[in-house]
Amino acid sequence: MGFLKGVDEDLPYAGNSSSDDKKMFRFYVGQNGKADISFLHGKSDLAHALEHDFSRSQNYRDRQQFVCLKALGLDCPLCKLPRDEQQVRSRYANYFLIIDHTPYTSKKGKTYVDTMKLLVMNKEDIKRLDMTVEGLKDKKLELAGARFTVRRPDSQRSSRVGESYSYEGHTDFSKFEATKDFDFSPKAIRAKLEEILLPNELQAKAAADWCLKYPMIKAAETVPAGPTTAIDDGEDSVPWTATPE
Ligand SMILES: [Zn+2]
Repeated sequence: MGFLKGVDEDLPYAGNSSSDDKKMFRFYVGQNGKADISFLHGKSDLAHALEHDFSRSQNYRDRQQFVCLKALGLDCPLCKLPRDEQQVRSRYANYFLIIDHTPYTSKKGKTYVDTMKLLVMNKEDIKRLDMTVEGLKDKKLELAGARFTVRRPDSQRSSRVGESYSYEGHTDFSKFEATKDFDFSPKAIRAKLEEILLPNELQAKAAADWCLKYPMIKAAETVPAGPTTAIDDGEDSVPWTATPE
C-alpha cells in the first residue's frame, strides 16, 4: 500500500514522494551557519524515494521538489526531460523526521521553535551521518532522540543540511508541542512520512504546467520516457547548491 521504501527495501523504478512544503518545511542550514536539531527516529525508519528538484527561475527560493509521480501510476512530465536540462535534477532522497530547535522569526515577527521538519539527505549526507552514528554506537547511544549542533561550512557547494553533527545529548520529546502525542512506532513514522510526501494530481499538474512553459522541454515530451532518462543513477548532482544563496 505504502509508496515509500524503507532502508532495506529495493528502490522501485520510480520512487515516489514529493515535498509539499506547505505540509512540512524542509530543514536547511545557511552557508557558514549552525542549527540545533533532534532526530525523531533512527536510520532504520528512514524512507527514501526518487525526487525531482527543479527551478522555475534562477532564484533558489523558486526551487521545488516533487517526488516522481510514476509510483502512483501518474504521468511524470519531469521524467521526460532531457538529461542535460540544467533546471531539473533527479536524485534519490532519504527522509527523516526531526525537531528543529533553532529559533526562527518570520517576517511577520512570529517566532518558531521546536518545530517538526523533514530532513532530506542525499548519498553523501548519509555517508557523513553513518560516521556520526558509528560514534554514537561507541557510546552505546541511538540516533533516535539524539540532539546535535549542526554546522555548515562557508561554501556554496557544501551540503544544505550541514556537514558536521556534534552530539549534544538525548531529547525528551514530551516537552514539545509538536511531539506531545507523537507515535514513535515504525509504522506510524512511515505513515507520517507518506502523508507528508504523497504526490498528488495537483503536483502533477503544477509540474506539467511548468514544463509547458519551456518549448525545449515540450519537444522532449515526445521522447518515450525510460527508467534512466534524466535520472542521475542515485548520485546527487548538488542540486541545492548550484544556485547562489
Ligand atoms: Zn518522474
